[in-house]
Amino acid sequence: MTDLTGKIAIVTGAGSGIGRASALLFAEKGAKVIAADITDKVNDTAAENPEAITAMTCDAGSEEDVQALVAKALELHGDLHIFFANAGISGGFDGIFDQSVEEWEEILRINLIGPFLAIKHAGKAMADKGHGGSIICTASVAGLRSGAGGPAYTASKAGVVNLVRIGAQQLSGSNIRCNAICPGLIETGMTEFMYKMVRERGLEDKVGQLNPMRRGGEPIEIANAALFLASDDSSYVNGHALVVDGGLSSSHPFSKQKFGETAA
Ligand code: NAD
Repeated sequence: MTDLTGKIAIVTGAGSGIGRASALLFAEKGAKVIAADITDKVNDTAAENPEAITAMTCDAGSEEDVQALVAKALELHGDLHIFFANAGISGGFDGIFDQSVEEWEEILRINLIGPFLAIKHAGKAMADKGHGGSIICTASVAGLRSGAGGPAYTASKAGVVNLVRIGAQQLSGSNIRCNAICPGLIETGMTEFMYKMVRERGLEDKVGQLNPMRRGGEPIEIANAALFLASDDSSYVNGHALVVDGGLSSSHPFSKQKFGETAA
């Protein structure tokens, strides 16, 4: 059974959704967790398991704040084994002609520079300890092809997919693994507006119909993937972007009339 006993983990974006579910799961599996978020909702996450989880407010796209997070783990627990760089923003769905440079800079700062800072500072701390570790960054199916987010979001998540590849290479020989997760549609704070809208219109059964599982995902289903990548169960998985999307990205759009569906 997957066990994180004795591991020290940092999870960003832990005030809500995927980050919150992951911080709670890591703690349940035995890790000591620093749960970080830009909002104080992270205190509620820590209150669920105060023995194991310490809350810290931080901006995951700020170098100073990421350094402070790593320093906190070392100060409190004397070590660091896992960094889940998960904080992110969608930045809305305006098209390329309507997005400003300032919006692009902010989305890239949090979604792409944040994971870079995690690899830089957590990677250094883990390498100094000499025991290896696991850095996980949340990308998205939006990072694989267009159609699942705004332009800057999509570009930022594609950047994360390639960032973990270069991260794995740059950490070569350190036994520090660097991987990404590409969630599909998950019900969280980020997608709340969409779920609210379809529920108000009585269309909840339409959610997730584009993927073969025919449903949206839950935060715990991404947390389970993060747990796998965080733990020694994935000891030979490195430089990989793990897609957890119910099969959404497994196909190009196709004509059901032409090809049919086995279980339709
Ligand atoms: P969420 O809004 O529920 O959680 C995101 C958390 O990140 C929030 O608590 C927010 O306060 C925090 N955050 C935002 N900016 C921050 C910053 N600068 N510093 C620290 N914390 C910050 O949404 P979620 O879906 O759980 O998002 C988690 C990750 O999953 C994001 O990277 C998102 O892009 C990614 N993702 C989500 C979906 C989905 O369908 N929900 C799909 C693919 C990828």
